[in-house]
Amino acid sequence: MRPFEYTAATDPADAVRLVAANDGTRFLAGGTNLIDLMKLEVETPRAVVDINRLARREPALEQVAELPDGGLRIGALVRNSDLAWNPVVQARYPVLSEALLAGASGQLRNMATTGGNLLQRTRCYYFRDTAMPCNKREPGTGCPSIAGHNRINAVLGTSPECIATSPGDMPVAMVALGATVHVRGPEGERAIPLADFYLVPGLHPERETVLRHGELIVAVELPALPFAARSHYRKVRDRASYAFALASAAVALDIHEGRIRDARVALGGIATTPWRSFEAERALVGHAVSHTLFRTAAERALAGAVPYAENAFKIELARRTLVRALTIVSEMTAR
Ligand SMILES: Cc1cc2nc3c(=O)[nH]c(=O)nc-3n(C[C@H](O)[C@H](O)[C@H](O)COP(=O)(O)OP(=O)(O)OC[C@H]3O[C@@H](n4cnc5c(N)ncnc54)[C@H](O)[C@@H]3O)c2cc1C
Ligand code: SF4
Repeated sequence: MRPFEYTAATDPADAVRLVAANDGTRFLAGGTNLIDLMKLEVETPRAVVDINRLARREPALEQVAELPDGGLRIGALVRNSDLAWNPVVQARYPVLSEALLAGASGQLRNMATTGGNLLQRTRCYYFRDTAMPCNKREPGTGCPSIAGHNRINAVLGTSPECIATSPGDMPVAMVALGATVHVRGPEGERAIPLADFYLVPGLHPERETVLRHGELIVAVELPALPFAARSHYRKVRDRASYAFALASAAVALDIHEGRIRDARVALGGIATTPWRSFEAERALVGHAVSHTLFRTAAERALAGAVPYAENAFKIELARRTLVRALTIVSEMTAR
């Protein structure tokens, strides 16, 4: 690990100013991803600005608040455990609670924050190994994963420059729910739909989001979505806990008299971004619930998948994971 400067900010405006002033400076939240990557020297910031004390000045950063329109505002420093066990989240957005509880371990969830979770980096083996080239870590050096070990890599949203999987569980549930990210930078605040927040790698895998350097995530807002009370997150992985998704599905269904009126579908573990499947949603809406319908939706969701030598299994795994999640939600009684 290389030496770095450490500052604990107590004022959000100071934190933004300190990070924005220097390209080599990073925000530090729970540290469960950034510090790991600093130890590996994948990330080598000159300085870090600890944002854990900002809530003393701005308590909303650590709070989950109900909005007048029925939505929910989640402060960027809300810990993953607190969000997962929040009674309103459990009742109205169970898919989000389940996605959080499917991630990492209890200890990690106690540290990890909402903002940091959105920005965690890929687990691609080559990205985390500085002895290897990697276009995401060092643009222009190549992508050894394409012809190398790619079992954990993506089959959707890939490019000839990078096939790294987006690792998070929480963002998959949030993208299905239609969340919006609120950020504050040197030029003020802006709101970004989560569906537009992440970038597929294209020619620039080093750019993962539309966030500008120095912009602080302050909150995530979930819209009121009454039918999300019937929702579920299904995750398939190598171990029953403490493992990243090989495939996952976040699903919410609005079912009336056996027919689907509205649907939300997102996939994880198989794409370069948290992957909302509008194709699957279109296939579902207006039709009567059936196994055949769910299988059709899953076929549509994976229609554009491109397999590599070791990860073709993920395509059928993702289809089955989605069918299972849809089946579970369709069998729930409305809560
Ligand atoms: C062994 C292990 C297993 C794991 N398993 C899973 C899993 O199964 N599923 C899963 O989803 N995750 C898993 N994780 C990842 C874990 O969820 C993330 O490390 C965590 O969510 C990151 O949050 P943090 O607050 O610690 O972020 P940090 O490490 O503090 O920060 C991560 C990044 O976000 C930036 N950042 C943080 N907060 C803000 C903000 N408010 N505004 C702007 N930038 C910000 C930082 O500068 C940094 O670049 C695992 C991690 C480990 C170590
Ligand atoms: S898949 Fe992306 S992160 Fe992995 S080695 Fe290739 S460029 Fe790097």
